[in-house]
Amino acid sequence: TEMKDKQFVWHPFTQMKDWVSRPQMVISAAQGIKLIDTDGNEFYDGVSSLWVNIHGHRKAEIDQAIVEQLGKVAHTTMLGLANIPASQLAEQLVAVAPPGLTKVFYSDDGSTAVEVALKMAFQYWQHKGKTGKQKFIALEQAYHGDTVGTVSVGGIDLFHRVFKPLLFTPVHIPAPSCYHCRLSSDQAVCGMQCVTVLEQVLAEHHEEIAGMVIEPLVQAAAGMLMSPPGYLAKIRELTRKYDVLLIVDEVATGFGRTGKMFACEHEQVSPDMMTLSKGITGGYLPLAATLTTQAIYDAFLGDYADKKTFYHGHSYTGNPLACAAALANLKIFREERVIEGLAAKIAAAAAKLEQIGKLAHAGDVRQCGLIVGIELMQDKDRKAPYPWEQAVGARVCLQARKYGLIIRPIGDVVIFMPPLASTVKEIEEMLDIIHRSIQEVTE
Ligand code: PMP
Repeated sequence: TEMKDKQFVWHPFTQMKDWVSRPQMVISAAQGIKLIDTDGNEFYDGVSSLWVNIHGHRKAEIDQAIVEQLGKVAHTTMLGLANIPASQLAEQLVAVAPPGLTKVFYSDDGSTAVEVALKMAFQYWQHKGKTGKQKFIALEQAYHGDTVGTVSVGGIDLFHRVFKPLLFTPVHIPAPSCYHCRLSSDQAVCGMQCVTVLEQVLAEHHEEIAGMVIEPLVQAAAGMLMSPPGYLAKIRELTRKYDVLLIVDEVATGFGRTGKMFACEHEQVSPDMMTLSKGITGGYLPLAATLTTQAIYDAFLGDYADKKTFYHGHSYTGNPLACAAALANLKIFREERVIEGLAAKIAAAAAKLEQIGKLAHAGDVRQCGLIVGIELMQDKDRKAPYPWEQAVGARVCLQARKYGLIIRPIGDVVIFMPPLASTVKEIEEMLDIIHRSIQEVTE
C-alpha cells in the first residue's frame, strides 16, 4: 500500500520534500479513539481524523444506522425529491440549533456549506432590492474552506495568497486574537478594539455589505486563535444594527467541541446563517448543512417568471447514508448525555495544560472546550517565533507518534482536538505525550 500510495496518491497540504520522502503511515483499521496501522500499531486519534470524529471509530449505533439505510436506498437526488433521513435530520438540526434558524440547505463538506452561505447571502440582497450589498466582511486569519469563494473570504497568507488573482475581495478586519493583538499596546486592557474597527467599517460601508462570516470563539485553521469573551455577541449586535447578515461558521466548533452543542450558545447568539459539517455525521461520511432563517428562505420564493430560486445544489447533497449517520450521531448525543459529560474532560485537559504552559517554549496555551492549540515560541518572553524552516511544530507531532499519538501542527501551533468520547484518563495520557514531546524537541 505504501508504495502504491507514494506512486499514485496526491495528499493535500503535504508536498514538502521531507514529508514526501518519509515512510507513509497507512491506517487499516480503527476502534474507539484509536487508529491502527498496517503493522498493527495503535495510535490515539488526537485530532479526531481532522476534527470530525465525535464518538470514536466503529461506534456500533452509527455503523448499524448506515447498514440499515444501505438496505433501503444509498442515494437519490434532492432536486425535487425528498428522502426520509434528510427530512428527519433537518427537523432535528433545527431543534438543536440556535433559535430562529428554521431551514436546512444540505451540501457535502465544510467548504461547500460556507460557499452556499456566501452565495445565498449575496442573492438574498438582490431579491430584497438592495443590490448594492455585494461585499463580505471576514476576519484576517480566517479559514472557511478551499473553494474559490471560501478562499476569497480566507485570510491565511500561506494558503491563500497564491490564489489572489482568482478571488473576490472581502473587507478584512483584524482577527480578535488576544495573544497576537496588534491593536492594543497592553494586553491587560484589551478594550476590544477589534470591535471598534468593525463598527467603523459597518458605519461607513454597510450599504455595500451583504454579510459577515466568522468562525465563532476559535479561528481553528489559523492555529486555534481564540476571541475574547463577549466578542461574538458584540458582532451579532452590530451586524443586526447595520442590516448585515451574520454567517457563523460552526464547521469546526459545532457538535460539542467547545463544551456546548454550538459555540453560538456560549453568547446566546442567533445568527442569520450557520454552517455545519465535520462532526455532523460523527466523523463517518461527508455531509454539510447551511441553516438559515425563515426570512432568508422566503426571499427566494417566487414563480417561474421571477426566476428567484437559489441556483446551487450538488449531486450528493442530502445523501441518505450520511443523513442516517448524522441522525445516529444526534441520538448518541441525547442518549449518552455527551454534552453533560464534557465538563470533567475539559477540566482534566485544563489541569494538564497548565503544566504544559510552564514549559520554556510553550508561548501560549489556548483551550476552548476540547479544542487546544499550544503555540511554541523560540523566545517565550519576547514572543519570538522559531524560524519557519525548523518545522518545530511538525517535529513535535512526529515525536508524539513515537509514543502512540497522532496530532498535526499548524505551523508551530500544536493542535489537540480529541474525539469527545475520549475518557478523562485518555485525555490525560494524550496530553502527557504532548508535554513530553514538546520538551524533547524544544529543550
Ligand atoms: N470552515 C471551518 C471553520 C473549518 O475549520 C473548515 C475545515 N477545517 C472548513 C470550513 C472547511 O471544511 P471542509 O474541509 O470540510 O471543506
